[in-house]
Amino acid sequence: MGRRPRDLRLLPKAHLHLHFTGSMRSATLIELAGKYGVHLPEALTSGEPPKLSATDERGWFRFQRLYDIARSCLREPDDIRRLVREAAEEDVRDGSRWLEIQVDPTSYAPHLGGLIPALEVILDAVESASRETGLGLRVLVAANRMKHPLDARTLARLAVRYADRGVVGFGLSNDERRGMARDFDRAFAIARDGGLLSAPHGGELTGPSSVRDCLDDLRAARIGHGVRAAEDPRLLGRLAESGVTCEVCPASNVALGVYAKPEDVPLRTLFDAGVPMALGADDPLLFGARLAAQYELARTHHGFTDEELAELARQSIRASAAPEGVKAELLSGVDGWLAG
Ligand SMILES: [Zn+2]
Repeated sequence: MGRRPRDLRLLPKAHLHLHFTGSMRSATLIELAGKYGVHLPEALTSGEPPKLSATDERGWFRFQRLYDIARSCLREPDDIRRLVREAAEEDVRDGSRWLEIQVDPTSYAPHLGGLIPALEVILDAVESASRETGLGLRVLVAANRMKHPLDARTLARLAVRYADRGVVGFGLSNDERRGMARDFDRAFAIARDGGLLSAPHGGELTGPSSVRDCLDDLRAARIGHGVRAAEDPRLLGRLAESGVTCEVCPASNVALGVYAKPEDVPLRTLFDAGVPMALGADDPLLFGARLAAQYELARTHHGFTDEELAELARQSIRASAAPEGVKAELLSGVDGWLAG
């Protein structure tokens, strides 16, 4: 007799790959666009994930354009507070107990009075949302690899300055095909010296070499995506051995055309190679799936058993920047889920 599958929304997990604007509820975007008179393209209002093929540069550009339009609807501190509170509520509903949200404050600075005020508004919003929802909430400051490496250094210094106010890590996002990871090595050195975790994107739009660059040049402790490491068994071995976690976002990979179908995302390959993973939603606003849906996908399309799904949740918790006491509590919650 088989038992009914356990509810994945009740499985305690850590959510380590979620972008700021990309976390917005569609309804909120529509409301804010109305408030500011921003015209939204249908791709952002239809409720269906837009068809994008980010594997070619035009598709990626289109994705970035949609993201920019959504971002332009976040202008006032109240918008920021609302975004963070709702992202926290959505995460809690999906069983997330710890969220590390990723933001490049540069994008919000023009409306909020500059880089420092922007980051302060964000960190205040994070603190209140955490208090109101009970979710552990921290921030990764992410530099944009389309910009100058000096901008990244400025951001890294800023991130370090706010390390005791909720910034736990430093990231690098946008088109991996542009620039080299090593152009950003100084920024990452500043971040690491300041005690921040190195978590750049790699191995999404380009193959294993971009993951190796993140390890060699940026001393990544976690890799944003990293899925394409699956193409190189030696690299998988290296990730497994050094315990570097890949923040894998399966629904995003399919929406952006990195893989054609959910079953093509190499979750099994990484899992069986012993590479720790933290499943993430990336940009639910654009891809339509939040955190629990990523675990559902592992269950439905890759046959992950409840024991294996629990192990994925443990891997996400271990890779988080949560204090040891919080990790222990969440890990015992995972055991409780399995025992229930
Ligand atoms: Zn991302």
